[in-house]
Amino acid sequence: MGAKKGVFFVICGPSGAGKTTLVTRVRRRFPDLVYVPSYTSRPPRSPRELRAGRYRFISKEEFERCIRQSGFLEYAVYAGNYYGTPRAEVQRLLAAGRDVIKEADVQGVQQLRRRRFGGRLVAIFILPPSLKELEDRLDRRGTESAAARRQRLERVLDELGALDLFDYIVINRRIAQSVERLSAIIKAERQGP
Ligand code: 5GP
Repeated sequence: MGAKKGVFFVICGPSGAGKTTLVTRVRRRFPDLVYVPSYTSRPPRSPRELRAGRYRFISKEEFERCIRQSGFLEYAVYAGNYYGTPRAEVQRLLAAGRDVIKEADVQGVQQLRRRRFGGRLVAIFILPPSLKELEDRLDRRGTESAAARRQRLERVLDELGALDLFDYIVINRRIAQSVERLSAIIKAERQGP
């Protein structure tokens, strides 16, 4: 029997569903869970986002070079920008038995489902309570242009068609309750399959 391999928790959900807040809260509860930031060619929304550590911002050219070098375990184009998961880093952590958490979109989860990466994938979809609520949240955030906002909302409808890819769905009505649910899933899955 080989050494214990890590669990790869991938958190997915429409932008504006509250995913980032949830992941931030859950990470505080599980300090030994390793958060792996994504690479993206999207420009930072603000200086704060640049510092927040959720993304590593690189140029489109750097991203494409990394694709050619097979540097991503999965990558996708979302609303005109690239997003991807660093292959070597995730594989090294999982091989060392560390559990990893990161965000990805549905295309990313589709690719990970087909790929061997030396760990066990647990894919969790965070749903907003309603489309109306999602629109309101995107409006409140106010970081997207009208066109980008529309593109993101259209994308949500596509994503809903892929829900059977996921091991769990969490409906984010109240953040405290969702943090409890997500934590319970993580705790249970870390015990083994
Ligand atoms: P946003 O621009 O709103 O930060 O992210 C857009 C979408 O890209 C979100 O659904 C987010 O979860 C997804 N995303 C973030 N990182 C990755 C990644 O590494 N791979 C993939 N496939 N999607 C990602």
